[in-house]
Amino acid sequence: MNIQAIRQDFPILNRQINGKPLIYFDNAATSQKPYSVIDAITNYYQYHNGNIHRAIHTLSSEATELFEKSREKISKFINAKSPNEIIFTRGTTEAINLVAYSLGCDTLGSDDEVLISLMEHHSNIVPWEIIAKCRGFTVKYGHVNKDGTLDYQDFMSKITKKTKICCLSHVSNVTGVINDVKCIAKVAHDNGALMLIDGAQSVPHMKVDVQDLNVDFLAFSGHKMLGPTGVGVLYGKKEALQKMTPFQGGGEMIKDVSFSADHCVVSWNELPWKFEAGTPDIAGVIGLGAAIDYLVALGMDNVFNHEKDLTQYATECLKKCRDITLYGPTDLSQKCGILPFCLRGFSSHETAALFNEYGIALRSGYHCAQPLHQILNLPSSARASFYIYNTKAEIDRFIEIIEELNS
Ligand code: PMP
Repeated sequence: MNIQAIRQDFPILNRQINGKPLIYFDNAATSQKPYSVIDAITNYYQYHNGNIHRAIHTLSSEATELFEKSREKISKFINAKSPNEIIFTRGTTEAINLVAYSLGCDTLGSDDEVLISLMEHHSNIVPWEIIAKCRGFTVKYGHVNKDGTLDYQDFMSKITKKTKICCLSHVSNVTGVINDVKCIAKVAHDNGALMLIDGAQSVPHMKVDVQDLNVDFLAFSGHKMLGPTGVGVLYGKKEALQKMTPFQGGGEMIKDVSFSADHCVVSWNELPWKFEAGTPDIAGVIGLGAAIDYLVALGMDNVFNHEKDLTQYATECLKKCRDITLYGPTDLSQKCGILPFCLRGFSSHETAALFNEYGIALRSGYHCAQPLHQILNLPSSARASFYIYNTKAEIDRFIEIIEELNS
């Protein structure tokens, strides 16, 4: 990949922060946006704005075509069997809530179990805990090793005939650990359970093929993969989605609402619209389509290899620095471009504030993954995370600052 050419596509990278060129290392929180995505959104509002699916006038037809084209692009991008398996949501959080509410309220009861790991983002824990309180099922947790990797033996041993769904992040947003979700999905299916993966940190950074992984659900967010905020995706296997009751009711998700005698009879629309109540973020979906075009043109293997190269380089440099502790596995073949660390003498927020003075954007806190921080025995951590436009020169500058602080 020609990184200098890529950087030209991202206007925000020309910004100065505190008088210094911006170095954006907070990509796990959200990515920056190229002109093509910004232009797709502007173009939609300037020339094609109309509500989708509902009218026969030209603007509505154009908007519908652009919207549904994005669904097709996303379907191809993750190798779904059909665009009908792609449901637009507000993001990963809403996608997981959709499954938790639809599946939980419909089919899970007091004899059932949901299995999650302790490395999850809160959005893959809290929805399950909320529904478990209403429906009386049990939420079980698979352990995580001290280096942040999944304890596979423990997780597998907790999958039983009572398990109805296993929920696991594909890549941890704290450590960058890549989980072998294909292998877990096989064990889940052998026991009659479904498999949901949180792809918020995998889909933007690597080739994800839902048919190869054989997962039942995959949730991800547009804003972490060059797209706009407010739009995300739930992929669901047709067979699983067909059995589920809609999470939200309203316009667009019904086939028929009629009154017979004294009661209302409602039938659901076809997939995927059955799960898309109300007017969606049309511009956002079109922007996400442009983001997918950008990533496809780069090639996801190239994206992954570039980030791997940066992670390897940064890890080797940071290991030589005094007063810095790195967390996560030492085997880099198991991880993506996310580096959690602590700087001796500084809290994570102090670390992020200090780097901000130098124009470097880092994340600090517990990154919505408090249980994992408990396991790592950390109140919080600082986090650098890379994407397609980051360079080794930026990492050199980052290391230079750490060395200045150490001296
Ligand atoms: N899961 C993981 C692994 C994440 O990193 C994030 C975002 N930090 C989420 C879920 C939630 O994503 P969103 O806020 O876009 O819904």
